[in-house]
Amino acid sequence: MCGIVGYVGNDQAAPILLKGLEKLEYRGYDSAGVAVYDGTSIQVVKKQGRLKVLEDKIHNGADLAGTVGIGHTRWATHGKPSDVNAHPHLSSSGRFAVVHNGIIENYLSLKNSLIQKGYSFVSETDTEVIAQLLDYFYEGDLLDAVVRTIGKIEGSYALGILCRDQPDRIIGIRKDSPLIVGLGTGENFIASDIPAILGKTRDIYRLKENEIAVVEKTGVTVYNPKKVFVSKTPCHIDWDVSAAEKGGYDHFMAKEIMEQPKAVRDTISPRIKNGRIVLDDIQLTEEQLRNLSRIFIVACGSAYHVGVVAKYILERYTRIPVEVDVASEFRYRAPVVDNRVLVIIISQSGETADTLAALREAKRLGARTLSIVNVVGSSIANESDDVIYTWAGPEIAVATTKAYSTQLAVIYLLAIYIADKIGTMKPEEYRHYISELEALPDKIEKTLSGRDHVRQLARRFYRSNDIFFIGRNLDYAMSLEGSLKLKEISYIHSEAYAAGELKHGTISLIEEGTLVVALATQQKLFEKMMGNVKEVKARGAVVLGVTTEDNQQIEKETDCAIYIPRTCEMMLPSLAVLPLQAFAYYVASLKGCDIDKPRNLAKSVTVE
Ligand code: GLU
Repeated sequence: MCGIVGYVGNDQAAPILLKGLEKLEYRGYDSAGVAVYDGTSIQVVKKQGRLKVLEDKIHNGADLAGTVGIGHTRWATHGKPSDVNAHPHLSSSGRFAVVHNGIIENYLSLKNSLIQKGYSFVSETDTEVIAQLLDYFYEGDLLDAVVRTIGKIEGSYALGILCRDQPDRIIGIRKDSPLIVGLGTGENFIASDIPAILGKTRDIYRLKENEIAVVEKTGVTVYNPKKVFVSKTPCHIDWDVSAAEKGGYDHFMAKEIMEQPKAVRDTISPRIKNGRIVLDDIQLTEEQLRNLSRIFIVACGSAYHVGVVAKYILERYTRIPVEVDVASEFRYRAPVVDNRVLVIIISQSGETADTLAALREAKRLGARTLSIVNVVGSSIANESDDVIYTWAGPEIAVATTKAYSTQLAVIYLLAIYIADKIGTMKPEEYRHYISELEALPDKIEKTLSGRDHVRQLARRFYRSNDIFFIGRNLDYAMSLEGSLKLKEISYIHSEAYAAGELKHGTISLIEEGTLVVALATQQKLFEKMMGNVKEVKARGAVVLGVTTEDNQQIEKETDCAIYIPRTCEMMLPSLAVLPLQAFAYYVASLKGCDIDKPRNLAKSVTVE
């Protein structure tokens, strides 16, 4: 979600840190900062905005003396982008500087207990507790302070740590966020990702979970969390920078598809505490929820498709009527909105012009507004009454994958949370859904491991001129997304239809050999879907079925099939979307399309 660089050597550290950060800006870039030991104390300079702002301020690093330091580009999760919230964070004593990539889930309780011990905080970040904890535990043994600190923090982290009292070294450690160690001659490095150090060295250590690297200019020593020495074998990198930025994948989209288990885990797990959903983020009271007459969901593109899923789920579990609107339509259709209406706004960037305008209109009409947004401090986040962030990290490919998946995850959290508060979900159901939510990231991972089969199917069908997607209810919502993904990046004409609706017109387009992707993941609608499969097969269609792994009989009706793991019905969309994304990706790749930047499209649509 951000970039970390650290340097120990004989050269001036700041220019090297900045050069490394330039190669990591693709990981997040709302602010940047460096901390360097200048011979007496740790100097920190940090600025909101692009890295360029920081580079100008310190004249590309020339202003900061010192040969040991850490740097960071931030992608905010806790606290808006600002100079104060930018990293590195200093402990109150000035003894420790810390850069962090990830989310500390228990930071609030740690912060409160540190405040009681006399520590004062200046930022809104979760990261600052790490600097203070290190200071609290430090009794002269740096490794010991690090071990005790990681014993207290929960969540995901990659950390770079600089200690004023031991200025000949930096510490790197990671859990569920990436960090590597770069091995030079007379100089060594830490970094979130390989591109940051490729200009300096091609030899690295990959750190395992909670391994602690003590990085000095003459060498690197790695310990396990019990402070026992770990012997590491260096790994030589022979990729070029552009392949390295994509983590070895051919495109950002492929990388982002594979990041979905982590993105969904990061979005869900900090919000489940002791078997209960805790939405610290929102102020909506139980009384306000009970009073709701209606929910509107307003969004554009794939986020709108999340809204279509959300309608099925929210109505089913909360029994509150839900309407879904395309943002550019909502504004001009005189929607019936008053102060008993909740308007949920969904936008990856938080800057989508149509969606922002719809939010303003909803507020003008007196509705309560809640946004689901990926970019902290964005306009939509700032202007809504409540915001729930999807912690997907920066998404570079224009066609959304991981942001979409985290938006779905937030919808599940919200549906279960509201249903519980207003009493439409029984306690045993609640417990069941919580355990399904917790199991979801692993099931996403399992589904993605079947992508080679999807690649084979793409090879068979990539020359198609038209591809139809059909499904009922949740599968209809998935059809919309599967079809859009394909259109966006492969330029193949495609339509998505509610399976029962096809025969009321569009079935006339089915010809001998037309591919129809039939989604049939919901057990109760399986037989109905098989009826629709028969209808299109009778007109010559070739059918690719998508269903759960216990429905292998689907191949009696279809020409080929993709199977996803079983989960509760509510969460099927999170698994069903994965082969659809992969299918679109492989088809586009076989056609040689510009996958990350499809023609005519922009990542964040900030015009009406
Ligand atoms: N949670 C931290 C923050 O919001 C780190 C975010 C990041 O990974 O950039 O400052």
